[in-house]
Amino acid sequence: MTRVLVLNCGSSSVKYRLLDVPSGRVDEVEPAVVASGTVERIGEDAPGAPRDHAEALATVMAGLPLDGLTAVGHRVVHGGLTFTAPAIVDDTVIAAIRELVPLAPLHNPANLAGIEVARALLPGVPQVAVFDTAFHRTLSPAASTYAIDAETATRYGIHRYGFHGTSHAIVSRRTATLLDRPLAEVNTITLHLGNGASACAVEGGRSVATSMGLSPLEGLVMGTRSGDLDPTIIFHLHRVAGMPIDEIDDLLNRRSGLAGLAGVNDMRGLLARRAGGDRAAALAFEVYCRRIRSYVGAYYAELGRLDAITFTAGVGENAPAVRAAALAGLDRLGIEVDPVRNDTPERGARVISPPGAPVAVCVVPTDEEWEIASQTLGVVS
Ligand code: AMP
Repeated sequence: MTRVLVLNCGSSSVKYRLLDVPSGRVDEVEPAVVASGTVERIGEDAPGAPRDHAEALATVMAGLPLDGLTAVGHRVVHGGLTFTAPAIVDDTVIAAIRELVPLAPLHNPANLAGIEVARALLPGVPQVAVFDTAFHRTLSPAASTYAIDAETATRYGIHRYGFHGTSHAIVSRRTATLLDRPLAEVNTITLHLGNGASACAVEGGRSVATSMGLSPLEGLVMGTRSGDLDPTIIFHLHRVAGMPIDEIDDLLNRRSGLAGLAGVNDMRGLLARRAGGDRAAALAFEVYCRRIRSYVGAYYAELGRLDAITFTAGVGENAPAVRAAALAGLDRLGIEVDPVRNDTPERGARVISPPGAPVAVCVVPTDEEWEIASQTLGVVS
């Protein structure tokens, strides 16, 4: 048995999961969850709130059975072009993650805080950084290059990095398992629809296109992020509306998407309002689903042959109305959602297209913590 601690440190929160993995089989076995939880409001001026990540992690770790711990796996959001795979943490790795802070100013500093505290509290236990971006380092230059002045792009690291990599990796692999086919032979479009949302075209297990870019702002409509827009909107808001650049950043990242369109960032709330006849909610739903459909079309063309479309994360796993609307009208492409299968209350990995459909439409629960644990064990063993 090996025991792995997975840490996901956000700007004001720490999520942790302690897993026991039957020895020698790190890929598709179900690990046992020994403990899991979240500490929130770190750094907030509130009674009982931890002062900083160090205090939060010290409290968490003091309460966990960590004897015999094999490794700690850390979620790190931005690995830039430096990291194409998980890395065992040393001073060089820490310096490289720190160099990437300008590309992920909210996430990487929190991830680093977690790494440094865990390193100090657990000397001798290998720490592994698992990057959200690494899965997308198989993107071709044509898929990852923005069409702007090449020298400027190179100098400032303007590049499609892609995110949600651990989720797209595990979900595309589990789709192949669900269809009982070798991963290398399956082309899948994975749709991670959570608070953040991204699409990925996965060809035989390799990411070949993804909707998030330099940052997690690009692509699909999200809870509070706009996704794709004409960059001139930013110039316009600055020049004509006189908004400072930080305010526009806040507008597009925290006050747009479903929240901006309908005043609710939560899909459950949005669906309830739409059912009650709220027109703003109905429009937001249409905009959200239409964007998904556009990416499905684009990635179908990218892949040439499509075997599966897989929905995952909070919305993808739990909102049949979104799945049906996002893929409506695509039957001529072999893409169809069976209404009965789509509406079943069943959980777990399942196919929701009609039997024998050319493209299998699937729902596969994501498990980013397990993927981080699995990748962590992959590099330490
Ligand atoms: P995640 O970031 O993966 O936790 O996903 C969060 C999103 O999933 C939020 O928009 C939730 O409203 C949505 N969600 C969770 N459960 C449901 C549900 N039963 N029906 C519709 N949306 C849901």
